[in-house]
Amino acid sequence: MGLHRSASGALRPRMRETNMNKPHTLSMEHDTAPRASDYFGSLTFSGDVMLKRLPPDVFMNLQRTMRHNWQLDPSIANTVASAMKEWALEHGATHYCHWFQPLTGATAEKHDAFLSPTGDGGAIEKFSGDALIQGEPDASSFPSGGIRDTYEARGYTAWDATSPVFLLRSSNGHKTLCIPTAFVSWTGEALDQKTPLLRSIDAVSKQALRVLRVLGDTTTSHVMATLGCEQEYFLVDRNLFLKRLDLCVCGRTLIGTEPPKGQQLEDHYFGAIHERVIAYMTECEERLFELGIPVKTRHNEVAPGQYEIAPTFELANVAVDHQMATMHVLRTVARTHGFECLLHEKPFAKVNGSGKHNNWSLSTDLGANLFDPRDETHTNMQFLVFLAAVISAVDTHADILRASIASAHNDHRLGANEAPPAIMSIYLGEMLDDILDQLERGESKRSAKSVPMDLGARTLPQIPRHTSDRNRTSPFAFTGNKFEFRAVGSSQSVAWPNTVLNTMIAQSFDAIATELEKKLGKGATQAKREAAVRTVLKDIVKEHRRVCFDGNGYSSDWHAEAKKRGLPNFPSTAEALPALVTKKAEKLFASYGVLSKRELHARYEVQLEQYCKIVQIEGRTLSQMAWTQVLPAGWRTQGELADTVSGTQHAGIPCPESEAALSDLARLVAALRNSLATLDEAIASQVADLEQRVGHCRTAVLSSMSKVRECCDALERVVPADLWPLPDYAAMLLVR
Ligand code: ADP
Ligand code: MG
Repeated sequence: MGLHRSASGALRPRMRETNMNKPHTLSMEHDTAPRASDYFGSLTFSGDVMLKRLPPDVFMNLQRTMRHNWQLDPSIANTVASAMKEWALEHGATHYCHWFQPLTGATAEKHDAFLSPTGDGGAIEKFSGDALIQGEPDASSFPSGGIRDTYEARGYTAWDATSPVFLLRSSNGHKTLCIPTAFVSWTGEALDQKTPLLRSIDAVSKQALRVLRVLGDTTTSHVMATLGCEQEYFLVDRNLFLKRLDLCVCGRTLIGTEPPKGQQLEDHYFGAIHERVIAYMTECEERLFELGIPVKTRHNEVAPGQYEIAPTFELANVAVDHQMATMHVLRTVARTHGFECLLHEKPFAKVNGSGKHNNWSLSTDLGANLFDPRDETHTNMQFLVFLAAVISAVDTHADILRASIASAHNDHRLGANEAPPAIMSIYLGEMLDDILDQLERGESKRSAKSVPMDLGARTLPQIPRHTSDRNRTSPFAFTGNKFEFRAVGSSQSVAWPNTVLNTMIAQSFDAIATELEKKLGKGATQAKREAAVRTVLKDIVKEHRRVCFDGNGYSSDWHAEAKKRGLPNFPSTAEALPALVTKKAEKLFASYGVLSKRELHARYEVQLEQYCKIVQIEGRTLSQMAWTQVLPAGWRTQGELADTVSGTQHAGIPCPESEAALSDLARLVAALRNSLATLDEAIASQVADLEQRVGHCRTAVLSSMSKVRECCDALERVVPADLWPLPDYAAMLLVR
């Protein structure tokens, strides 16, 4: 793997500034189509743009921060800000903003104009170093979990120079200069996703380097977390979307009966992409390329109306920002194509939901992937040590890892036989499993070679069989040279699960490095080192192997087996979140300076609150739709049927079937009305204690919602189509 770290801090090829102002849509004036590589990164202040526009000493100074994580030198800020302003103005931008990721799960931006009056009736464009480095948004309206006391509402945003500044372009061409920033309270406590992520990246880098050193590596100077996220999403026709309050307000359908054709025929996955969808995907890609986001893969997913987009991996911090920008672009571009992009984890019942596969690895500054087993795995001591560290981390902190992906949305998906179970386990594949056997016995002599796979047709090439097979049912799979955390939800920010991953693995590295340093002292021979590593590996494998599981994660046998092995199983958010505030979690995050106890508890509280608010909003939305749309449709149908029955009887024709249908319908309508009364009661009841409120939402609100849904869906099957007030699943899942 040839990792190239560009000046932007991203892992990607160099970009050219020359074509940045050229329109790149194919027009009659072009005799050749414009290439994506010509405008890749053209809306980012990085690479050659920086090189050309900054004095060499300032450029070098900034590179030290971007490439080698040196602290930012504030003396260069004015020069950098001035160059950025000129570049942004040349592109037609009028405003700049500090772009940050508060605990809402979304991004936030407050725009300020460059324009500044001169006092004599004129104006000039200004952008100072201070304005680049620090902003002071009012923090009082963002969730803080009690960190921000109301009497001190100030919050600060601070420039994160390791992630490229970019121009966000709206569909009407307006551009805003966006400066990626961290968001903290006036006391310096994290109020966002980026601050702990950056701290966790430092922690895992530092501890991984210690492991490399004790294993005899003297050349690596820096270790970096890498990340590539596969994003699943649905597209629905925007006209239909706007007719459904549940989609508009909650991002998912709260009612809707199964369509005749869902995903039974398995004809959508990797199927030919509809022309309207390809046009949409192409525009998304153009917009993402301009932002220097290296999207690579696009395809139809399993459910009808479901798709996937994935980039080439980058440095974790940049990848997280790019992931947030990708979700933004997917949503906004959809509207110009007459679609709405649904990023919700479960927009439709009875067809697959959406996830986000979080591909994570570690790379050295020299470009070596630390999870690449190379050819002879058993000789690769370093690989085995890193692998063992991950196994031990996932086993020790399975509960925290589970909590990192817990949300009201993801609850509808995890464990639903389309997504991994809520039990955290690692899939390693046959070869590595065999190696663990050997390690446990204190030896490692051979690795099961990958056997070339015979495809049975002479015209096809012989390809080596991937030694780690694909097991779609595992939440955390080793996929050849990286780990794929598959339980992450499609709408969530990947910052938090990666913060958790980095931190828990940093702790494993720390423990292993400490143990080996103690055993080896200075100047150990290779033989001594190998012997020490073997002992450490043996102990880790013995203790933590229980978390490795290669079988079918969907099966009920696994649930029983996992229980026997003592692995935690938290089926829903309500059970999962408390793992964030155990003594173990407090110690983990505090030890590596990622989150103080106060910051951790604040996050816990924010998540509990968010869970309750989401469920409450969903409950209210369902209540409104059912009272004002579904129930009236039921009554109208009942009225029509009653007229029919009495008219028929009046004509002297007995009609017992119609009478029975009428009484069935009347019963259904009454059941809906009763279940709605229960739902309204559940929504209205005030539960002061936050943790009890979570329990109330999970049991009382959600269960009464599902009773209401049952009645609504039953009505949808009998109410005449012209009286049914909502677009149905069949219409929404079909692209026309
Ligand atoms: P799939 O999982 O669908 O088979 P791939 O294995 O090709 O697809 O890759 C999925 C994602 O994993 C991509 O975004 C890719 O860039 C990313 N990826 C590949 N190698 C690494 C790595 N070393 N670190 C982080 N992500 C990686
Ligand atoms: Mg994948």
